[in-house]
Amino acid sequence: MNFDSLGLDPTLLRAVKDLGWPKPTPIQLDAIPPAMAGRDVLACAMTGSGKTAAFLLPLLHRLHDAPTRGTRALVITPTRELAAQVHADLQDLAKHTGLTGAAVFGGVGLGPQEAAFRRQTDVIIATPGRLLDHLGQPGRYVDFRALEVLVLDEADRMLDMGFLPDIKRVLSHLPKKRQTFFFSATLPPPIVALSREMLHDAARINVERVSTPAVGIEQALYPVPEALKADLFIALVKSDTIGNVICFTRTKHRSNRLSDVLTRAGIPNARIHGNRSQAQRTEALAHFKSGKVRVLVATDIVARGIDVEALEHVVNFDVPHVPEDYIHRVGRTARAEATGEAFTLVSPEEEQDLRAIEKAIGRKIPRRMVEGFDYKHRPAERLEIPIAERIAAIRARKAEDRARAKAKAARREAHTERERERPAARKGPASRGRRGR
Ligand code: AMP
Repeated sequence: MNFDSLGLDPTLLRAVKDLGWPKPTPIQLDAIPPAMAGRDVLACAMTGSGKTAAFLLPLLHRLHDAPTRGTRALVITPTRELAAQVHADLQDLAKHTGLTGAAVFGGVGLGPQEAAFRRQTDVIIATPGRLLDHLGQPGRYVDFRALEVLVLDEADRMLDMGFLPDIKRVLSHLPKKRQTFFFSATLPPPIVALSREMLHDAARINVERVSTPAVGIEQALYPVPEALKADLFIALVKSDTIGNVICFTRTKHRSNRLSDVLTRAGIPNARIHGNRSQAQRTEALAHFKSGKVRVLVATDIVARGIDVEALEHVVNFDVPHVPEDYIHRVGRTARAEATGEAFTLVSPEEEQDLRAIEKAIGRKIPRRMVEGFDYKHRPAERLEIPIAERIAAIRARKAEDRARAKAKAARREAHTERERERPAARKGPASRGRRGR
């Protein structure tokens, strides 16, 4: 079945053709017809399945069909990156329709986003926190009275990030009569409860299916002692076993440290995690996408929703604690029928988490060794500085700062003292001198 048979508006078919998509993906085939018939949709879909177009195409078809003024669709996403990604997809798909879109997320100024609301932008793509900020602003410029379609994207991720109360507050500002698309990779009980609250007689897609990574992804494990993980990763990069790669670490500290170690090893890299500003994250992603750096070190924050074209590799530097995270991270590669490889470095301490993952995906992942790598050597440096040492270092630095500030204050004091005494001193010898002449 091809796109033509879905009954989409010709302007949308042109956009799909411009993108070079040969045929709809399975989720698009399943979700678009009921959505175009005006039904609510509940879909279990992974990033990489083509889920964004599965909701954007019917949404744009509906808006394009009956042009009226006002913000008529709202897409809520858990992260800034995903909001930016959905906005980029919207721009591609809506380019022949005349419909407008804007992304609304934190870390950047409110002004241009306020202007987008005031312009009655057709489709707003927002993260929940920033949307609530706008809803609370004086001026009351956010107007959802014309809203027809609501999309909740990656609902389970919203739950993980603690956004459910925010979502419920946002819902209280929206018209009850609307069409709702609810997308989630997994359906834990709180998400099922939320979907019941939000949906009416929804078409259910893939809901019964166990999620597994997209086909086309070759997965492998690299067993390695914890202390040698950085060295093994460097060996993999240097041996050209991996091309452009997103490398996921468990914590922000580990991603910062790994990034520093890679830089010292002469491997250009960028890093992206929750402690970095929006500008830094955007820049890191841009450098990676443009090929300026081959390695992007990241925490789980970018695991969902970031679409990097032709991403060849994902490396789990640490084994994810929950199988869903593994599936999501691995889903970063092999997007929509491309192929890719996902490698996971496993220390002996992580074997248990790994077993849970293998059980969830229903198969054993093959194990590999890096030829020529010395699995017994002593690492040149430790990747992770224990928290007690880090605190001690911070304290020492602060003590140094305090001592420096104290010395500076003492110098200033002495200087003032000298200044105070100076007129008298000058008077003394100078007048004596004059008198003497
Ligand atoms: P998503 O699951 O929405 O993050 O989409 C994954 C990737 O697949 C994106 O790069 C899309 O541009 C691409 N894509 C979406 N639909 C299709 C399609 N029908 N054929 C080929 N690629 C697609």
